[in-house]
Amino acid sequence: MLGLMQDWPLLISKVIDHAASQFGNQEIVSRLVEGPIHRETYRDLRNRSLQLAKSLTQSGMKSGDRIATLAWNTHRHLELWYGITGLGGIYHTVNPRLFDDQIVYIINHAEDRMLFLDLTFVPLVERIAPRLTTIEQFIILTDAGHMPETSLKNVMAYEDYLARSDSDFAWAVFDENTAAGLCYTSGTTGHPKGVLYSHRSNVLHAMAHVAPDFFNISSHDTVMPVVPLFHANSWSLGFSAPMAGARLVMPGAKLDGPSLHELLETERVTMTAAVPTVWLALLDHLNRTQGRLTTLKRVAIGGSACPRAMTEAFEKHYGVTVAHAWGMTEMSPLGSFCSIKPALAGLDDDALYALKMKQGFPTFTVEMKITDDDGLALPHDGSTFGRLKVRGPAVTRQYYGSDETVLDRDGFFDTGDVATIDPHGYMHITDRSKDVIKSGGEWISSIELENLAMAHPAVAEAAVIGVHHPKWDERPLLIVVRKTDATLERDGMLAFFEGKIAKWWLPDDVVFVDEIPHTATGKIQKTALRDMFADYTFSSTASKPQ
Ligand code: AMP
Repeated sequence: MLGLMQDWPLLISKVIDHAASQFGNQEIVSRLVEGPIHRETYRDLRNRSLQLAKSLTQSGMKSGDRIATLAWNTHRHLELWYGITGLGGIYHTVNPRLFDDQIVYIINHAEDRMLFLDLTFVPLVERIAPRLTTIEQFIILTDAGHMPETSLKNVMAYEDYLARSDSDFAWAVFDENTAAGLCYTSGTTGHPKGVLYSHRSNVLHAMAHVAPDFFNISSHDTVMPVVPLFHANSWSLGFSAPMAGARLVMPGAKLDGPSLHELLETERVTMTAAVPTVWLALLDHLNRTQGRLTTLKRVAIGGSACPRAMTEAFEKHYGVTVAHAWGMTEMSPLGSFCSIKPALAGLDDDALYALKMKQGFPTFTVEMKITDDDGLALPHDGSTFGRLKVRGPAVTRQYYGSDETVLDRDGFFDTGDVATIDPHGYMHITDRSKDVIKSGGEWISSIELENLAMAHPAVAEAAVIGVHHPKWDERPLLIVVRKTDATLERDGMLAFFEGKIAKWWLPDDVVFVDEIPHTATGKIQKTALRDMFADYTFSSTASKPQ
């Protein structure tokens, strides 16, 4: 017997309709790429998204068409999300930090029909335009007054494109499983792969994450998504903040410490989210300028492991609660948050921060398990590690353009991460499966060594890779960027690990570098480090495992 409730498809248009009707005057503040701060309301955002949907329809765009964006977090980028999906189209967020060849590949692979780009990316798009085989029109996200001289053909200013239409447009209505968004994984090996979100997956994912144990967003919040709309769906904030009626602050192209600090303070931000590298820069700026965070209450940190030193700095020095989050593009992207369950309330300081290093427990809509290489489930004892697998309505089952399922026989997706799960349900990532260091038949977690090294006051950033060793197969090599003006040498660094790890985990050597390479999504680029140190051999002074 079926239930007798109304059939109300979970469409993205419902999110902006709700925001505009219930929180119509709530602001969206954007730092424009042109420079000034721009303000509009949810009511404006909805009207302009309707206008855009009408203009796109007049350009011949229809349900199922892919429309690319190369853009920073601004109100215009959000309008694109709502305008494109409101007619049944698919927003395809392209990560501008990818290499030219990858950008060309994914736009052609997605067969995008239009490309909306920020002024910043005009030179990039001019360079690759001759190789884009399906783009019919380019729209630059600015007004006529700021239009640059450009070699792009069939190009128009966004504000002019909007002005061609009014907002007298009705959102299209269709099945909630209709595709809504496309985001390619950064693909460190092989071509990037497209993850195709649906209206239903985006709405369910956002609903699950506004909840108190996760983003904990309400209409009393001012939310600043620093995590880009082009990185894994901006962790749902483009949907979850409007759904909750929160005020939004969009930081545009300026993601350096001083610019973010200025916006956090002047716009009285209460909640923000980004990868650790962004927060390293902010904390460094605060440290140098004796800056304070007077309104910020919560920061979600994920995308790579949040070092304990970072969590303690935010919580103890600045009074900002850290929510360590984990997920991936294939999961829309959030999978777990590390908030404290009642059973764990009252932990002492050390146990609390040890717990906060974990990536946390799954959100409603995500199920997790760890298995061995044969797919057999492993115990949730907090120490056995295995392949982390997930399933749920906002987890991918197949990549765009591929006929093959990516699921195992029980419907789980292998995340490529190696993790433990403890009896309370907290998951802890020990590594990407390809980064784990295999030494004498045992595994060493590169993430744990990095986190420990980051706790040294002279260390700005640290990375650990496995380097070939004739006897032990692989041994850990620690690569360190010192803080400006700090003095730190190999032996001092290694001494810092004493008593904190098993002796055989101790890195065999330390190399100091000026910079550690990062991927397009702000993660340490282990493949580049492995290439850099491909010919490295441990010197005779390097300590041996015991
Ligand atoms: P992406 O699809 O670019 O978001 O990358 C997803 C991958 O980032 C995951 O599979 C993890 O390897 C890594 N990752 C994300 N969040 C965390 C975290 N909190 N701690 C450790 N690794 C993380």
